[in-house]
Amino acid sequence: MPDLAGELSRALPGMRASSGEADRVAYSRDLWPRHHLDVRAGQPAEHRPGAIVWPSSTEEVARVVRWARERGVALVPFGAGSGVCGGIAPREDVVVVDLKCLDRIRTLDPAAPVVEVEAGHMGVPFEQALGGRGFTLGHFPSSILCSTVGGWVAARSAGQCSGAYGKIEDMVSSLECVTGMGEVVRLRRRQSGVDLVPLVVGSEGTMAIVTSAELRLHPAPTCRGFGAWSFPTTPDGWQAMRALFQSGLRPAVARLYDPFDAMLAKQGGVKKEGTKRTRPAAGARSRSFGGTALRAVLRRPGALNDLLHSRVAARALGGAMLVVIFEGTDEGAQRGLDEARTLCESIGGVWEGEAPARRWLAHRYSVSYRQAPVFADGAFVDTMEVAARWSKLGDLYEGVRRALGEHVFVMAHFSHAYPDGCCIYFSFAGSADPGLVRELGWDAACAATYDRAWKSALAAAVEAGGTLAHHHGVGRSKAPRLRSELGHGVDVVRSLMKAFDPAGILNPGNLLPSPAPGTPPPASSPPSPLGLDRDSLLACIDAGTDLAAAERQLNDTDLTLDLSASSLSGSLGEWLARGAPGARDRWLDPADQLLAGLDATLSDGRPLVIHPAPRRAVGPDLTALFVGAGGRFGRIDRAWMRVHRRDATRPTAPAFEIDRDPTVSDGERTLLDDITRAL
Ligand SMILES: Cc1cc2nc3c(=O)[nH]c(=O)nc-3n(C[C@H](O)[C@H](O)[C@H](O)COP(=O)(O)OP(=O)(O)OC[C@H]3O[C@@H](n4cnc5c(N)ncnc54)[C@H](O)[C@@H]3O)c2cc1C
Repeated sequence: MPDLAGELSRALPGMRASSGEADRVAYSRDLWPRHHLDVRAGQPAEHRPGAIVWPSSTEEVARVVRWARERGVALVPFGAGSGVCGGIAPREDVVVVDLKCLDRIRTLDPAAPVVEVEAGHMGVPFEQALGGRGFTLGHFPSSILCSTVGGWVAARSAGQCSGAYGKIEDMVSSLECVTGMGEVVRLRRRQSGVDLVPLVVGSEGTMAIVTSAELRLHPAPTCRGFGAWSFPTTPDGWQAMRALFQSGLRPAVARLYDPFDAMLAKQGGVKKEGTKRTRPAAGARSRSFGGTALRAVLRRPGALNDLLHSRVAARALGGAMLVVIFEGTDEGAQRGLDEARTLCESIGGVWEGEAPARRWLAHRYSVSYRQAPVFADGAFVDTMEVAARWSKLGDLYEGVRRALGEHVFVMAHFSHAYPDGCCIYFSFAGSADPGLVRELGWDAACAATYDRAWKSALAAAVEAGGTLAHHHGVGRSKAPRLRSELGHGVDVVRSLMKAFDPAGILNPGNLLPSPAPGTPPPASSPPSPLGLDRDSLLACIDAGTDLAAAERQLNDTDLTLDLSASSLSGSLGEWLARGAPGARDRWLDPADQLLAGLDATLSDGRPLVIHPAPRRAVGPDLTALFVGAGGRFGRIDRAWMRVHRRDATRPTAPAFEIDRDPTVSDGERTLLDDITRAL
């Protein structure tokens, strides 16, 4: 094994580096549950890096990258290692770059309001610092205790309050990054011009190392409105969620639990304080009654799932439950709740009071950190977050639940809603398939059952028209299935990697499948005459369509594109390529978006289909190659536009004063040229 730490210390004097055994073990993985199974099977650190380095400034990161490029050594950017998809799986010839020493808040402009924070800042102290100045970012992933700003950006993360503040991609106004060439570049969001930020957000450490992010802030909330309703069935509950978001209401938190998950949530979803549990010794499998019972129950998941998901069980368990929290700095939070109450009750919701929402808030991070005992008991748990537009949500829910349910016990809640669709968060628990235990042994049989469950669930998600990931990202766990969702998009992402990192030194093997062709994506279904998906308030419109004509057609069905009169001229494709001038400012409603997907033809004639699925986290947002890019990389053939009811009120977030169209910098121009060549 090469002495990488020694080489680093000689080449970059003063920079902390280590190849100590304890460090190499600590940095050998993230929190992908598949790794936990390996650990339980006695393989705790299969992916030890050669060395770890701790740069403490952007310039130091750039020096590490330039050294690695010259030396031909791969680098794995590391935030806090809380990723759950195998994004961190280094090898002995790889150096892990821990960004946590880049942890300063560089500037906070209260007038905008906007903050510039370094990538290694951990979530909780960051929010505390903002709170001390009267602001919030509004980003509260359940992993906020153990994740960094850079990790959020790299994985396209979502927080619990996404209903009001959006996902991380809706908060970034600019990024400072170091490309694989070792160049420091500042990328800025642009309202009507080419925008490279969405290409780095979601790139999972494969294109550039994010060193700092400029993020939009909101006034810290001082008022909250809490509410909960039960509904006879889960679909009844999501109809209410859809109605809330499509009517223009923006609860920061909106969580719908299926009947079994609702029953747990009503009990607080966590064990009572002070409950003690005896842990088995490391490496040993629990022989306790609880552990034995758990494994026995999980060996027959099919029957258990059928029983708990029956109508009778739904009734007996008290139905599904929707929990919402509105927040803000005035009585608007209570007004939002009152309107939500009227709406939910008009469609059959039964008011359950404030308590479930208050209880959820008090325990908002507890459930996520209770997995270890299940692994110690010889079983496994994991979560899967998929999303689809509203019209496909039922297919997605049934398809994935059935696919998972053949192998594991499944629960679900719906925790990130938008006007055009929603995320479903499946939690599942499993044990070894009895048919495999004799042949493989317990731990390998558990791993095989786990792999089968994931494989069929991901296939079901794509078949149902959903996305493979809404906020956990792709990593190595979903990479083999990526082509089934992105098609040629996989090759486009590979080309982008070449442009940002020609030597391929940044987290190789992550995000993309091996170059062999995978399953092609399902053919995109032809749109109906108007291309209208009314349930999801989306219209699929040919790029050549005259905008004014499209608007007239939509008006006939009481819908509108809601564009200023001056922008309603020329074709949709040209208008999007110019950056959609005159469209509503994206910062006014972070939970909404201008378009949900598109079909395009790249300059070399390859087709690219980006299916409409709300806020996917499967790599970079490739629509950025077309919207505002002036046709540089290809042409738009049709676009899935968000449409609005003509009488709907559109939400307005607090003011955000930054330059909407900053000048394109030399660094951005160089990258644009590199991308053009690579594509
Ligand atoms: C208990 C638990 C709850 C979770 N809840 C949520 C949730 O509510 N919402 C959510 O979105 N996710 C959640 N996650 C997943 C995870 O926390 C997120 O993906 C998070 O964004 C990862 O941040 P990190 O700093 O730990 O990144 P890491 O795990 O260190 O890295 C993640 C990926 O990003 C890359 N990377 C990290 N930093 C940088 C950087 N500065 N520049 C370039 N690339 C970088 C890495 O190479 C890797 O591929 C949860 C995870 C756990 C364990």
